[in-house]
Amino acid sequence: MFITMITPECAPAAKVGGLGDVVQGLSRELGIRGNDVEIILPKYDCMRYDRIWDLQKSFSDLWVPFQNQDIHCDVYFGFVDGLKCFFIEPHSTHNFFNRGIYYGHKDDPDRFAFFSKAALEFMLKSNKHPDIIHCHDWQTGLVPVLLYEIYQHIGMSHPRVCYTLHNLKHQGVTGAHTLSNVGLDPGRLVNQNRLQNNFNHNGVNIMKGGIVYSNFITTVSPQYAHEIKFTGQGFGLQHTLNVHHRKFGGVLNGVDYNVWNPEIDQQIPFKYNIDTIKDKYKNKEALRHRLLLRQDYKPIISVVSRLDHQKGVGLILHSIHYALANGCQFVLLGSSPDSAINNDFLALKHHLNDNPDCHLEISYNEELAHLIYAGADMLVIPSAFEPCGLTQMIAMKYGTVPIVRNVGGLSNTVFDADYARRPYHERNGYVFNEFDSTGLDSALHRAIGLWYNYPQYFRELMINGMKHDYSWDHPGADYLNIYNFIRA
Ligand code: ADP
Repeated sequence: MFITMITPECAPAAKVGGLGDVVQGLSRELGIRGNDVEIILPKYDCMRYDRIWDLQKSFSDLWVPFQNQDIHCDVYFGFVDGLKCFFIEPHSTHNFFNRGIYYGHKDDPDRFAFFSKAALEFMLKSNKHPDIIHCHDWQTGLVPVLLYEIYQHIGMSHPRVCYTLHNLKHQGVTGAHTLSNVGLDPGRLVNQNRLQNNFNHNGVNIMKGGIVYSNFITTVSPQYAHEIKFTGQGFGLQHTLNVHHRKFGGVLNGVDYNVWNPEIDQQIPFKYNIDTIKDKYKNKEALRHRLLLRQDYKPIISVVSRLDHQKGVGLILHSIHYALANGCQFVLLGSSPDSAINNDFLALKHHLNDNPDCHLEISYNEELAHLIYAGADMLVIPSAFEPCGLTQMIAMKYGTVPIVRNVGGLSNTVFDADYARRPYHERNGYVFNEFDSTGLDSALHRAIGLWYNYPQYFRELMINGMKHDYSWDHPGADYLNIYNFIRA
């Protein structure tokens, strides 16, 4: 099958969070299964160009209609971790992708509407007719709309569209001008059944358009599929998802074990697996050494996260104090585009500066993330909501025990050591229900207690997590079934 991913992120070259990992891991899995996969991305100025191999201009005669002009674009080709990627570089005063950050501008809906249009225009002009276009999140929600409103009538009748929702909090709500800018007719499209925003009827909702026009919609875990259809987690799209429920399902994300695997990880000093799990503690020492923590008989509790309200920043702060007061060390790696949140953490970092049991690293650092997964004993994820969450699955692969809130994909992947309705060999972490410090404290208390008092049982939890298969093997097969279903 010929599959084209149209996406705002692909790790490791362009990654803000899990979406980047998912595109990388799923594309690799589809390739291994004999499919031809190509990926189309914007050419951001802030990408990791050192992670793109053999980047070359491959198409320079692309003119994309936008507003009342044709914008000239160059298309570059290169390999990202062996994956075939095309990068679209527009030349215009809009300066769409040369802004030093991926997201966070007022005109984001127009930047990505342009990208969606440019991706289709590129496919048309370069005669690419994939069987499947797989697009991701609100940024590419206009792809199926443009395909079925415009491009199928001018030569692109073959592709079917699978659309994956990674986070319903961001839906790309904009005005009618975004549609006219890319040649769509707001008069026809802005109504209840199509792209009209369900809250504010003058608004256009790009993600809703993607849902309405795609042949199949997935989201990133079965539990989140339920939550966005039936609870406020749908952020207003519950009704739309219920109307389209026949073409909607949850597929749990996988983890790319070529990237996240302590047996082969080039970014950690000591490789290990279940049989050599003692070597995990050499990584713990290395982590302490690197972050200037004292060597002591204490567990290291960690956080690797975007610092966003979604991730429970208040509870993350709380867990730092709890851990330090209860015989643990704490390591945090995180950053936020919101300076108020960053400043809270920087103030605490300043306050704890001389504490030999704590290090807060307020930045984005891929390599340090690997060392933390390998060196820590536990990883806390107290999210308000969590579509899937990759960090708990990555942590488990490294024998790091997750402590998570019972929500979204966290509930599908972490099974409580004491209370899960599962056999002991499947229990792999600690789970709490309420989004408050009481719930979190009780889970932390149980986890720390086990680490100190019953180390052999703690070791079993670590091993249970390492044994569980959260690779792309199953989800890869699920996606191929979906692709075949919509092609039929
Ligand atoms: P989300 O997509 O909501 O941010 P996920 O758990 O799905 O959350 O994916 C997060 C990904 O981003 C993981 O690969 C994690 O290791 C990585 N990550 C998050 N914060 C940082 C950071 N500060 N430095 C390096 N990697 C990070």
